[in-house]
Amino acid sequence: MNVAKGVETLELTMDMMGYHTKIYPTLLWDKETVILVDAGLATSLSEIQKAMGQTGVPFSDLNKIIITHQDLDHIGGLPEMLKSLNYQVEVLTHEEEKPYIQGDKPLIRMNSEKITKMLSALPDDRRQQMERTIKETKPYEKAKVDKTVKDEEVLPYCGGITVIHTPGHTPGHICLYLNQSKTLIAGDELDVTEGQLFGPRPGLSVDETTAYNSIKKLTQYDIETAICYHGGIYKDNVNQRLLELAKEL
Ligand SMILES: [Zn+2]
Repeated sequence: MNVAKGVETLELTMDMMGYHTKIYPTLLWDKETVILVDAGLATSLSEIQKAMGQTGVPFSDLNKIIITHQDLDHIGGLPEMLKSLNYQVEVLTHEEEKPYIQGDKPLIRMNSEKITKMLSALPDDRRQQMERTIKETKPYEKAKVDKTVKDEEVLPYCGGITVIHTPGHTPGHICLYLNQSKTLIAGDELDVTEGQLFGPRPGLSVDETTAYNSIKKLTQYDIETAICYHGGIYKDNVNQRLLELAKEL
C-alpha cells in the first residue's frame, strides 16, 4: 500500500508456528537507492519479488536492506534474498543485533534451548504438531551485515532516514523515521490491533519494561503515519496516541 512518494508497504502472508497472519515490510526508494526494511520469512522471497513488481520497482534494483531486529519473521528471508541478488546489496542493522543475524550468537528467542523448553510445556498432541512444524521449517542460515547504525544517525537515503534505537523487544531493535514524509517504520515497537495503535505486544519482548519505555523516544518525533510490521499502517493522530501510550508507563 502506498504511504508517500517512494514509500510503500508490502503485504506478505505469515504462516509460522501455527500463526496465520500478515506482515508488512516497507519498501523505500529514490533515484539512486532502493531499500527494503525487514526481509520477511524464509518462505517470503517470491512474495516479495511479486509485491515489489506491483509497485513498479524491480527486485533486482534492491541495493540496501535495513533490519529492525533479529526475530525470524524479520530476517528469515535474508540469506535467500542475498543469494538471489548475488550479494550485491548492503545490509544494515544496529550493532547489538549484528552478531545474532550473522550467526555469531544464537537468536535470543528462537534458539534450540528455548524451543525445547517451549515444547516441553505443551500438551502431547500440540507438542507433536509443533515438532512437525519445526521439522518442516527451514533453519535460519546466517547472513552477513555490512554496516551498523546508531541511535539518531541520519542515513542519507530517500530524503533522510533517522535511526531511533528502541531497545527492549530485542537489545538492538530500531525504528526508522522518514524525515520527508514524517513516517515512522516502527518494526515491533508498536503494533496495530483492531484498528488501534499499541506498544510492543505483551509477552514478546526480551525486556518488557525497557521495550515500553522506548515508546517515550518516539514522542520526540512529529509522526503522520506509523507502519507496524504486525498490523500495518496507522494514521489516526499518531503523536497524540503515542503520548497516551507513554503516559501509561
Ligand atoms: Zn519481533
